[in-house]
Amino acid sequence: MIDTFDALRAALAGTVLVPGDPDYDGARLIWNGAIDRYPAVVARCTSPADLAEALACARERGLDVAVRGGGHGYWGAAVPENGLMIDLSPLDSVVVDPGARRARVGGGATLARLDAACQEHGLAVPAGTVSHTGVGGLTLGGGFGWLTPLHGLSIDNLESAEVVLADGSCVRASADEHPDLFWALRGGGGNFGVVTEFEFRLHPVGPIVHLGLMFVEQDRAAHAIRTAREAFRSVPPGISPGIACISAPPAPFVPEQHHSAPGVALMIVGFGTAQEHAAALAPVRDALGPLFEAVLPLPYVALQQMLDEGSFWGVRSYTKGLYLDELPDAAVDVLAERLPGRASPLSQVLIFPFGGAFARVADEDTAFGGSRSMRYLVAIEGTSPDPGTYDHDRRWVRDTWDALRPVATGPGGYVNLMAEVDDRTLRATYGSGKYERLARIKAQYDPANVFRANANIKPA
Ligand SMILES: Cc1cc2nc3c(=O)[nH]c(=O)nc-3n(C[C@H](O)[C@H](O)[C@H](O)COP(=O)(O)OP(=O)(O)OC[C@H]3O[C@@H](n4cnc5c(N)ncnc54)[C@H](O)[C@@H]3O)c2cc1C
Repeated sequence: MIDTFDALRAALAGTVLVPGDPDYDGARLIWNGAIDRYPAVVARCTSPADLAEALACARERGLDVAVRGGGHGYWGAAVPENGLMIDLSPLDSVVVDPGARRARVGGGATLARLDAACQEHGLAVPAGTVSHTGVGGLTLGGGFGWLTPLHGLSIDNLESAEVVLADGSCVRASADEHPDLFWALRGGGGNFGVVTEFEFRLHPVGPIVHLGLMFVEQDRAAHAIRTAREAFRSVPPGISPGIACISAPPAPFVPEQHHSAPGVALMIVGFGTAQEHAAALAPVRDALGPLFEAVLPLPYVALQQMLDEGSFWGVRSYTKGLYLDELPDAAVDVLAERLPGRASPLSQVLIFPFGGAFARVADEDTAFGGSRSMRYLVAIEGTSPDPGTYDHDRRWVRDTWDALRPVATGPGGYVNLMAEVDDRTLRATYGSGKYERLARIKAQYDPANVFRANANIKPA
């Protein structure tokens, strides 16, 4: 017989869903269609008080707890089999104070909401590159996006956070209040509590920004990546580059005869004037000789949605990331050799050159898993709606990752791009000093390891 969790239903202002309820399937399914688990109960929490009730229920019944922010965690950390799924999607408000350049953002908000609300005032905070991603998981792991070279990671712009702890109490973490917790939240993931509200510092951005995309066919991939490496060694302020090994999307700015063509797109986003953007594009174009290019002004919110369609809800996806200090010829050769091996046009390798504001933050200032001296973040993604193609490309991701490992910076990688997490990789990601500090803070704020459905830091 299905447990209907009547006491929890009565205690919560939000909705409680169990198997058989009409909205249950909609609530348990997350972005990654490869994840198909059945929680015993889903608690849609609307406030810290709801969270305290849900956590008490899990404690009394000995249920595993998982927290869903935007539901984009690659390995489905948000959905516990037979456990309690805390769904933060009702906590999606974004309140902007344009005078103070601050935004207070609900723990279940999406980037789309964040960007739209901030852009009403010509403001923005660095966040990810796909707008249906959740602010919650993205921020707690670090959070990079097009604004990172200009303004750092999302965590570098975090002013404070309201957190419900494992015992149901609610605290505010900032530089002055619970400073250790505040440090740990900035990179340590969802290990320490449920963040019901993030407060971000904002920057003037847009509303119009400039996109330059230059595409080269796949058999010239090595040339394209080497050209990008030279061109992006030092990029002018206000410019944010990316290298996307993709299949050309059927977008209006792609000539029809090149739709679905596999290749490499060098992307150069300009946050300054059109002239500054054009000046940054010119030498790249000369060195690259693109098959086609698109240069266009677009609203910042459209830039943030540009990659949404290639990562649609329900698609199956397996992703592994690594950091590189350099992009040596050995790495370029591995990529050029392995790119033709992907079966799905949605599978891709994305390379984001860092530096700039990202590198100006000291390693010890935040709990971010990775060094600020790292130059490239590489995401290898196997993505397909078709199970067979997905299985093939999952192997392709693993093999490509293995092949790149010898040139990577250490054995760790970005916690938010881990399709699987193991203790050894996690320790390597943070380094022993940071990991041990995180473990001590974990022991203080979550000694029973209630929040363990994540890249889990074990309490010291
Ligand atoms: C299509 C796609 C594009 C992406 N692009 C980028 C990118 O450009 N930049 C980038 O940095 N990352 C990117 N990522 C990775 C992304 O940051 C992680 O997948 C992140 O975990 C997503 O957060 P979420 O809240 O949507 O996910 P969820 O699955 O809801 O949560 C992930 C983890 O965070 C915890 N969590 C979430 N919200 C809270 C909260 N409020 N309080 C406490 N714990 C919480 C969960 O418990 C879980 O452990 C992308 C992922 C996808 C799928």
